This record gives sequence, structure tokens and C-alpha cells, in this order.
Amino acid sequence: MTQPRIVRTLPALHRAVARWRATRQTTALVPTMGALHQGHLALVRLARRRARKVIVSIFVNPAQFAPSEDLASYPRNLAGDLAALAGSGADLAWVPATETMYPPGFATRIVPGGPASVGLEDKFRPHFFAGVATVVAKLFLQCRPDAAIFGEKDYQQLKVVTALANDLALGVTIVGAPVVREPDGLAMSSRNAYLSAQERAVAPTLHQVLADCAHKIAHGAELAGVIEQGRAAIGRAGFVLDYLEARNAETLLPLASALDRPIRLLVAARLGRTRLIDNVAV
Ligand code: AMP
Repeated sequence: MTQPRIVRTLPALHRAVARWRATRQTTALVPTMGALHQGHLALVRLARRRARKVIVSIFVNPAQFAPSEDLASYPRNLAGDLAALAGSGADLAWVPATETMYPPGFATRIVPGGPASVGLEDKFRPHFFAGVATVVAKLFLQCRPDAAIFGEKDYQQLKVVTALANDLALGVTIVGAPVVREPDGLAMSSRNAYLSAQERAVAPTLHQVLADCAHKIAHGAELAGVIEQGRAAIGRAGFVLDYLEARNAETLLPLASALDRPIRLLVAARLGRTRLIDNVAV
């Protein structure tokens, strides 16, 4: 099976990217934080269809974690990630050290607005999208991809990155990929590894409630009541809810009227020490 080349320094990355550009080979980038699962590999397959060469970046970005969050315990398994990427279609694994991304004196931050300030993830993780926007802009400038693939699993992030690429005219086409789920509906996530056996049994409730709410809304049920019932069901299952909201699927703003479409349902909830997010289209 073909192994992607592992690159850890900027000069080596720039040489590889320059060679591809010189021979007019298109590239697609799949940014990840590692602990790769089938959701990530689906992004790599999509990247493969969009471009001649595929770069997968693996970088646990400290800038998107608050001091109280799980940066130290975030699952890291580079050997497992490289094994997962063997034969996946990835040509290059970009694995920078933290000092390569944030050398001493690093002092620049991109602070996104629009979909990054709508009262969803941004309300509960106020540091998050500036950290994401800064590292993603940096990855784009380092890798100079024609396209970059992001999962709908992080739906708000997909919208923030799309706005970032457009607003700064970064020359990268942002492609969204559907959520990959376990057979019981739980959205795949590196953080699922934190769940105890008991919590793992409860976790699919989040998607069941979302699917149930979407079904009811699509069949004409009154929206506020459906969302209220959904919030209660998530609480009853044992989660501590951050939010369950129905939003305009494009702007992520609250629905302006009963005719405001398309609708996306977005949820974040904590189960023990694990914070899970998910979303569905109505
Ligand atoms: P992460 O490593 O969690 O930062 O995720 C890297 C990329 O993979 C992001 O674009 C995520 O949205 C995407 N991703 C993570 N989990 C899934 C999933 N279950 N289905 C689709 N995309 C995913």
C-alpha cells in the first residue's frame, strides 16, 4: 500500500508543493487534528476526487483550546494515523511541530465574524473560531491547495472557513463533506474515545433526538415546541445541554420567519467529561 510522505518542516513542504505546482498538478488539503477515523478518511477520498495530489495535515492546534479544555488529553496517535493513511489516497502528511506553526514571537490572530458570531459554538467556546481561522489560514498559505475539504460534522466551522476563504480571497475552494456516523447514528469523533461504556450506550440519543426533531419539523409540527421537547429529551438521557437550535442553514442566524429555509438543527451537549456536537438538515 502506498504510504504518504511524512513532512515535518516548512522548507520540505514548500519544495513538495512547488514541484506539484510547477507540473500543474492540483492539490487538495484535508486539515485534521489526528486520531483519524472513518470520518477523516471519507474526507481524504473526497479530496482524491477533487485534485491530483492530497495533503492531510495533522496538527493539534493549541490556539483553539481554552486553558480549561482538553488540549493535554486530546488523543494523539501518529503511528496509528500514518497506518490509517496508508492506501487512503493521501500523498503527503503535513505534521508540523507546535514551534513550526507558532514560533517564538508569533503575534497574529484572525478573528472571524459572520457565522463565527451567531451564539452557537462561539458562545460556549469564545476562543475557538479565532484559533481555527488563524491555523486554517496558515495551513492554506503553507500548502497552497486548490481545494480544502471540511466535514459537516463541524457545521459552523465549515461556514466560518468558507467565509474566511472568500473574505480573504485565499484562492481555495472549500468543499463540505457529509457526517460519517457509527451504525447506531453517533457521529464519529476523535473525542468519542473519552466515553465510558455506559456513556457510549447513551451517546447515540443525541442523533436520535436530532433526527426526530427534523422529521417532525419537516412534517409541519410547530418549531418552538419541537425544539423544546428535543431539549428535554436530551436532558432526560443524561446530557448537560449547551444548545439545541434550529437555524438558517446558510447564515446560521435564528430563523426570521416560519418561511425561513433551509433549516439546520445544531446541538452541543456534555456527557460526563465529553462534549459532543452534531447537526442535521431538516
Ligand atoms: P478534527 O480532526 O476533529 O479537527 O476534524 C478534522 C476534519 O474532519 C474536520 O473538517 C471535521 O469536520 C472532519 N470530521 C470529523 N469527524 C467527522 C465525521 N464524523 N464525519 C465527517 N467529517 C468529520
